[in-house]
Amino acid sequence: MVDVLPRVGIGVDVHPLEAGRPLYLAGLLWPGEDGLSGHSDGDVAAHAACSALLSAASLGDLGSQFGTSRPEWAGASGSALLAESARLIEAAGFRIGNVAVQVICNRPRVSTRRAEAEQALAAALGGAEVSLAATTSDGLGLTGRGEGIAAIATAMVIRA
Ligand code: MG
Repeated sequence: MVDVLPRVGIGVDVHPLEAGRPLYLAGLLWPGEDGLSGHSDGDVAAHAACSALLSAASLGDLGSQFGTSRPEWAGASGSALLAESARLIEAAGFRIGNVAVQVICNRPRVSTRRAEAEQALAAALGGAEVSLAATTSDGLGLTGRGEGIAAIATAMVIRA
């Protein structure tokens, strides 16, 4: 009965930082921080979570569901993409077990708003369990140089 086993997925996202843009990260607006550029609001945590969910349900990835070939999603918020991903997961016959996201950046200090961000991401997914962690890359690489923010996520879904 392979069909009843939980299925896990993985997602990664990176966006460049761009001074003068608002920062949307993990479903929250972070006042006073440089923002992320991209096809949508650049919320790497939300995007990695979407990719992990789509991956778990074998529904492709963020690019194939919401990429530049789908102009109606241009400028969409990470929360809107999460809500649509949750809808796709359900339509494919799955329910969400949990989602875990880790952000890699120098700034902002994600831990200062962890509970609020977890609630925002969970709400966008219709109440799914979401945990959020963060780390720096000790000054190394694109996140260490402050060129961008990265996020990695895993998700588990169960056949409904
Ligand atoms: Mg993205």
